[in-house]
Amino acid sequence: MPDARPTTAAFDVVIVGAGFAGMYMLHRLRGLGMSARVFEAGSGVGGTWYWNRYPGARCDVESMQYSYSFSPELEQEWQWSELFASQPEILCYANHVAHRFDLRRDMRFDTRVTEARFDRSTHRWTVRTDRGDAVSARYCVMATGCLSTARVPDFPGIKRFRGRTYHTGHWPHEGVDFTGLRVGVIGTGSSAIQAIPVIAQQAAHVTVFQRTPNFSIPSRNGPMTEAYADSWKRDYPVRREQARHMRTGILNNPNDISALEVPDEERRRIFEERWAAGGTNFMAAFNDLIVAQEANDTAAEFVRDKIRATVRDPATAELLAPKNHPIGTKRICVDTDYYGTYNRPNVRLVDARTTPVEEITADGVRAGDVEYEFDAIVFATGFDAMTGALLNIDIAVDGQTLRDKWSAGPVTYLGLMTAGFPNMFMITGPGSPSVLSNMMVSIEQHVDWIADCVAWLRAHGLDCIEATRAAEDGWVAHGNEVAHKTLYPLANSWYMGVNIPGKPQVFMPYIGGVGTYRDICGEIAVEGYRGFALSGEAAALAAE
Ligand code: FAD
Ligand code: NAP
Repeated sequence: MPDARPTTAAFDVVIVGAGFAGMYMLHRLRGLGMSARVFEAGSGVGGTWYWNRYPGARCDVESMQYSYSFSPELEQEWQWSELFASQPEILCYANHVAHRFDLRRDMRFDTRVTEARFDRSTHRWTVRTDRGDAVSARYCVMATGCLSTARVPDFPGIKRFRGRTYHTGHWPHEGVDFTGLRVGVIGTGSSAIQAIPVIAQQAAHVTVFQRTPNFSIPSRNGPMTEAYADSWKRDYPVRREQARHMRTGILNNPNDISALEVPDEERRRIFEERWAAGGTNFMAAFNDLIVAQEANDTAAEFVRDKIRATVRDPATAELLAPKNHPIGTKRICVDTDYYGTYNRPNVRLVDARTTPVEEITADGVRAGDVEYEFDAIVFATGFDAMTGALLNIDIAVDGQTLRDKWSAGPVTYLGLMTAGFPNMFMITGPGSPSVLSNMMVSIEQHVDWIADCVAWLRAHGLDCIEATRAAEDGWVAHGNEVAHKTLYPLANSWYMGVNIPGKPQVFMPYIGGVGTYRDICGEIAVEGYRGFALSGEAAALAAE
């Protein structure tokens, strides 16, 4: 059992968060012989998969790809039972990894990092927690997650409600039995789209409040066959390497032609093929779906037609068919019988755009003039994404806080560091491909880059690295330029911060592609960390 008493010790590195990012970061640093302490607010490892225990939760990237690649032994020994593993299985995998690599002895759970201060005279961070720890570290790695700050909108009256309320991202560990209950679900993002079909099978009645319909593709999930798993395991090194150079970090047979180059019939055949195969590969059907409105319209209309063909009530089908954003500009959802669920007699859809959710009452939800009575309400209302967890920590250097620096939106160099905050790295930070990718690939790439960087600094007698303003400005301009060549900024998405009132609206992830981004990061490192100011004993000697 790790010692749970508050500590004032000194480490080479403090890591905040014990999701897949924090876990692998610890493993890499240990391999370099560095000391590290991980602080995690939850009681266990797994991050996303520790918190999001709602019914139906599972990955939307196939498990053979949504898994670590750093250990060939781990890759070979682990068996996934389904093509898209469920949350319990992914959490089990995270626990297996923690055990296999003996990670827990350097982790402190139920401990939230509240403050971080950098001292320029010593080149060290002091990191404080809500349990009284005050540890010193040369480097601080924020592995705090892009989707770890669950958010319930500020509906008036929530405390009045006599039934139970749940957020998908904070689901009770003991599970929830909805049998015989009248359930209200607010939200129709990826979490809701996974949860609604499962809740509907159990509950007496489900009412879904939909403000914005989303595009969802059937996953075609099923049991993992030995032959399929073996085909991956035999070829893992090659396939993983290919995935690292794909646009999304997913090996997904992209079709490198325009949707507008082919006759209607051929286009439809290709969409049908992808629809039948299932999953996010649908968006790789043509090379211009995300950059050309006309091409995008063909894919969007195809999916709308599928919704109309599935949902028997035409009015409900029309309400479910997204019309206000190009397909793919919000993270595309992947489901199991989502649209078909609306054919069940115990499921009703409420249009929360024309009749917004006004308040939570003692007995349920009031939307427009109607009060709906519930025994339980599920908030599938998402997260303060990408910046929420970082800005919840009071981070400051020389009197400047990160909150102030990012008051007009996050600015970073490569999504790895932000100018003015030396020796603080972010894993999958804003300005990197992160949420637009297979995050396992992006996490491993960032962890490896950071580990290589601190090893390089040590080898060169340096102990301080800081992004320069010029490099940061250049990266932000480049990120904006690339984003505005696509249709992404047209959607009111959490990528743009639109879901949080008052949050600055900037496109946060880097859309240049995982492979391209990886090459850029690699080149910058090879060139002696171009765009970073480096200092320490060796630099001081060289300057003399
Ligand atoms: P997280 O898993 O979010 O872990 C961050 C950890 O940091 C959390 O445990 C949190 O408690 C902790 N933390 C934060 N702040 C503090 C603090 N101040 N002090 C202490 N601890 C702190 N991505 C995909 O690529 N494919 C998928 O199929 C997929 N499915 C998803 C499904 C759901 C329901 C959600 C919400 C996200 C999904 N994602 C998916 C994205 C997912 O977040 C990443 O794939 C990945 O799990 C992120 O790992 P992480 O370690 O970076 O962050
Ligand atoms: P989300 O995509 O942000 O969806 C939140 C939903 O709540 C939206 O439908 C939103 O409507 C609605 N909402 C918010 N405030 C509302 C209000 N005041 N009234 C009515 N509706 C309101 O959140 P999420 O579903 O949790 O997903 C977040 C991300 O996590 C995903 O995009 C994905 O990256 C990841 N994820 C992945 C999977 C997977 O398949 N593996 C599963 C879950 C999550 P508006 O759109 O109108 O704002």
